[in-house]
Amino acid sequence: VKTQGRHGYCFYAPEMSQRTAASQRIENVLRHALAHGELALQYQPKVDAKHGHIVGAEALLRLYVNGEELFTPDQFIPVAEDTGLIVSIGTWALREACLQARTWQRNGHPMSISVNVSPLQFQYAGFYERLDSILNETGLDPSLLELELTERTMMSGGDGTIRLLRRIRQRGVRLSLDDFGTGYNSLSYLKHFPVDALKIERAFVRDITQDAETAAITSAIIAMARSLNKDVIAEGVETEMQSRFLRDAGCSHMQGFLFGAPMKAEQFEERLAARST
Ligand code: C2E
Ligand code: CA
Ligand code: CA
Repeated sequence: VKTQGRHGYCFYAPEMSQRTAASQRIENVLRHALAHGELALQYQPKVDAKHGHIVGAEALLRLYVNGEELFTPDQFIPVAEDTGLIVSIGTWALREACLQARTWQRNGHPMSISVNVSPLQFQYAGFYERLDSILNETGLDPSLLELELTERTMMSGGDGTIRLLRRIRQRGVRLSLDDFGTGYNSLSYLKHFPVDALKIERAFVRDITQDAETAAITSAIIAMARSLNKDVIAEGVETEMQSRFLRDAGCSHMQGFLFGAPMKAEQFEERLAARST
């Protein structure tokens, strides 16, 4: 029994410490990146469903280690959340995105910019004040900023959440409910939370042309959102077939590789310049 126990211990221990080592390494990389400006944002076009014109961009974080992307957001965002680093990283991303949108506005390409907000960042005291000072400091027209919040983020805010959401909207900033359809309470959330738009999760979009039930659910979500006067954005659109289905179902905006992958700001600006000629 003793030997077995020891074997059990020996079998599990290296794996566990390996996982800790991996997240430890990511934590170190994140701290270094924050201090040395190795975080960056990429921008993915958001297009209107009718004409496919670019109407906005979603800012997505990238982490560079010696110029290389060693970790994806799905790897480093959870570590940033666990360590609390997401508060500084998220603030950096918000300011950087607002500065970029302000530059595009000045260059004659007024462009709405969407920024993801993490639960911890949102519940952290002073979120509104920080947002307000970033808007003042960058001079960005608040109606060009949209915050993407998930159900998890909205749940994290406690009793004051609705008040905070209202305050943000009163400041002129738009709110969208991200990853819609993946949570537990999505439908009731639409009624309770003052959001302008909802984003249909990529997993739904992926299956709409394969699976009749997913197609029916997605159509129903779009119809309901429209009847509540919300914009509906489909994310992860990769094929013409998906795009056609979503447009016919009444989706107002789309995002996905079909229209453009996340890209550097300079490339995005080239796309904008091409658009206006
Ligand atoms: P998300 O907010 O759902 O962002 C959409 C993700 O889908 C992005 O992954 C994007 O690159 C990817 N994507 C876009 N179009 C397509 C497509 O047509 N097909 C496929 N397969 N994927 C597509 P990314 O950039 O790796 O980001 C992953 C997640 O990390 C984001 O999911 C978001 O939850 C989080 N994240 C990224 N940047 C930030 C940030 O600044 N702050 C916070 N809190 N979270 C962020
Ligand atoms: Ca998002
Ligand atoms: Ca998503």
